[in-house]
Amino acid sequence: MIDVERIKDRVDCRDLIERDLGRPKYRNNTHSKYKCPLHNEEKGYSLAVYEDHWHCFGKCGRGGDAISWLQEYHGLSFQEACERLSVGDLPQLDQARRPPQPKVQPVSEPPSAEWQQAARKVAYMAMNILWGQEGKRAWEYLEKQRGLTEATIVDAGLGYIPGEYHEWKTIEGLNVPCGITIPWMTYSGAIWGIKVRRAAGQQRYHQVAGGNIKGSLYMGDAIKPGLPIMITEGEFDALIAQQAAEGRISAVAIGSASNKRINPRWFPKFMTAPSILIRMDDDQAGQGAAEQIAGLSQASQLIQVPQGKDVNDFYLEAGHQAVHGWINDLIGGNGV
Ligand SMILES: [Zn+2]
Repeated sequence: MIDVERIKDRVDCRDLIERDLGRPKYRNNTHSKYKCPLHNEEKGYSLAVYEDHWHCFGKCGRGGDAISWLQEYHGLSFQEACERLSVGDLPQLDQARRPPQPKVQPVSEPPSAEWQQAARKVAYMAMNILWGQEGKRAWEYLEKQRGLTEATIVDAGLGYIPGEYHEWKTIEGLNVPCGITIPWMTYSGAIWGIKVRRAAGQQRYHQVAGGNIKGSLYMGDAIKPGLPIMITEGEFDALIAQQAAEGRISAVAIGSASNKRINPRWFPKFMTAPSILIRMDDDQAGQGAAEQIAGLSQASQLIQVPQGKDVNDFYLEAGHQAVHGWINDLIGGNGV
């Protein structure tokens, strides 16, 4: 039998990795630093290697011990890596035999600070317009056809950019579609993007150019540790769920079924959730997304709405108390 702990004790990760990557950029008594080969790092030196472990502080965020290094870098199985380490038969460094780069989904970052600054101005400007005369119709739509309360609209920072449904405007140097603005941000945190819902047209949803909605999760920054999470497809569904739950869950949205590969950035937040309720649209794309997300955590559960085609519909048809009770049942609460 292979004694994993003994293998780990015997191998100094710094030597092991130096053998693969050559002389480190930097080495002191505790660690060495390299360009991380696991995400083909170009600019910095994010891979830090210590005696008993290694960690990439950059994009891929990978890390582990000597065994996992052989798995990640040389594409060995756990078993193979242990065997080779225990007999000292390390993989050869023949470049041609390097395994293909592992398919790592890099940990996503918000857009640049400059973009965020401009986008925040656009979002606030749109909020002001929504509150004024020009925003009246959009406001009515949000209240009557989406069931959102004033408090939810304010908390979500929803806004409105007036104009024809096909129009784009240049605001703060950004290319902005006209319509209802749904900022992907928190007041204290980053702004990842601004989704815009147009009043008409083939493609209803667009986004302000330069955002990184694809790498983000709507309201993901606002997830409260320890609370159940509901993941919906659309932003309005998440807002309604949040409103109906009255603080009992954190609701988030992927924004579109094509965003089903949730970025690893959010995984630590999922870990503390006692349950994760997944509610995607009833089409094929939605169901594919639901299955993909359900694979993330054992606490996940696919849910259906008792009435209507989505959470938003259910809320409009059955009312606040019905949706509140439904969510409460789902999370096993006993309050009202
Ligand atoms: Zn890396």
